[in-house]
Amino acid sequence: MARSWQQSRSLFADAMKVIPGGVNSPVRAFKSVDGEPIFIQRALGSRLWDADGNEYIDYVGSWGPAIVGHAHPDVLATVSRVAANGISFGAPTELETTLAHAVIKLLPSIEMIRFVSSGTEACMSVLRVARAFTNRSKIIKFEGCYHGHGDMLLVKAGSGAATLGVPDSPGVPSGTAADTLTVPFNDLGAVAALFEKHPEDIAALILEPMVGNSGFIRPEPGFLEGLRALCSRFRALLIFDEVMTGFRVGIHGVQGLYGITPDLTCLGKVIGGGMPLAAYGGRRDIMAKVAPSGPVYQAGTLSGNPVAVSCGLKTLELISRPGFFDQLSRRTSDLVEGLKSSAKTYNIPFVADSEGGMFGFFFNSRPVKNFADAKMSDVARFKKFFWGMLEHGVYMAPSAFEAGFVSGAHSEKDMSLTLEIADKVMKGCR
Ligand SMILES: *Cc1c(COP(=O)(O)O)cnc(C)c1O
Repeated sequence: MARSWQQSRSLFADAMKVIPGGVNSPVRAFKSVDGEPIFIQRALGSRLWDADGNEYIDYVGSWGPAIVGHAHPDVLATVSRVAANGISFGAPTELETTLAHAVIKLLPSIEMIRFVSSGTEACMSVLRVARAFTNRSKIIKFEGCYHGHGDMLLVKAGSGAATLGVPDSPGVPSGTAADTLTVPFNDLGAVAALFEKHPEDIAALILEPMVGNSGFIRPEPGFLEGLRALCSRFRALLIFDEVMTGFRVGIHGVQGLYGITPDLTCLGKVIGGGMPLAAYGGRRDIMAKVAPSGPVYQAGTLSGNPVAVSCGLKTLELISRPGFFDQLSRRTSDLVEGLKSSAKTYNIPFVADSEGGMFGFFFNSRPVKNFADAKMSDVARFKKFFWGMLEHGVYMAPSAFEAGFVSGAHSEKDMSLTLEIADKVMKGCR
């Protein structure tokens, strides 16, 4: 059954006239799969419908936030009830403290938290605090890790930036980027060497403790522990950017899975359940530096607005229910195992992995441990697979270097249908 994307094409042409590239975030444009985006009209549970009326099983989930499925009735009821009393006041509300307590209970490394509106803001702000607290200026980040589009973080940033081939965006002053040191993920030796070279200058090390923005890459045994030890030894702050992994790989994040205590954590995506909400938090002595309690300025007109906060709270409540992550993990690993088995049947080099409701795969014959490995993958074959899946009603991230997401609304039937389609498409990718 060939799908028509006529409406989407026409909507995209209109959008191109007034929005750069027709989209409000680059990866949505389908450039890395050499095509044009489908325009979404509505979504429910695990499904999406586009402007031409085509239905899809969704494995993007708004790039992570949609963990309970789209338009969950409990979330909608909460959001409507709260919105009816006003959308934003620019004044404190009790809901914010309730969410703060909820997050702190799930992530004990966080003693105090500040809510912001995007992951980008969380990462920019957390670095300012880290630099102020340590009175140092350099930071270490990993190649292929994405921490939003703040100037000093837009260096070897994976994801959209990687596939567009702009490792350093024009407009980022070279002086700003000069304090950002980059090393390959999973390379503890390289990190140690940087610390030896700049023992007094490194304010913080920031990472996706389980990478999603180079595709899915797991930390090797001992890697996170090693980073924790190095940061403690050189008195640099360890920052886990769990914007993607927080409440996604498990209810306690990567820090809970691996038993590592970062000094600071960034959160986003699931924490807002689809509303613009993100956060940074951590040790009380560090967070006390944030204005107005301390001198480090950071503010936001819409920060912690009641609608976004209530959406996040309800989402956290739903995923905290007993059994939620067991089912989600099972569905996600079934998907990954099924994909692997199809690839094996047709002799296609393929590696895949998952944790909780997050997964990734590469058309690669070797295990992927860092961004350089990821880039060795067969992107042409990925594109063919992506379009085959889309044509048959499965919506996956339109890039070979993005993670995928399953929700609590994905049924066993969704998974078996997806795998049936994937097998057919994989066969065509031989
Ligand atoms: C998505 C993401 C960000 C940026 O969040 P936005 O809300 O898109 O600004 C930062 N860090 C990580 C790890 C992310 O996945």
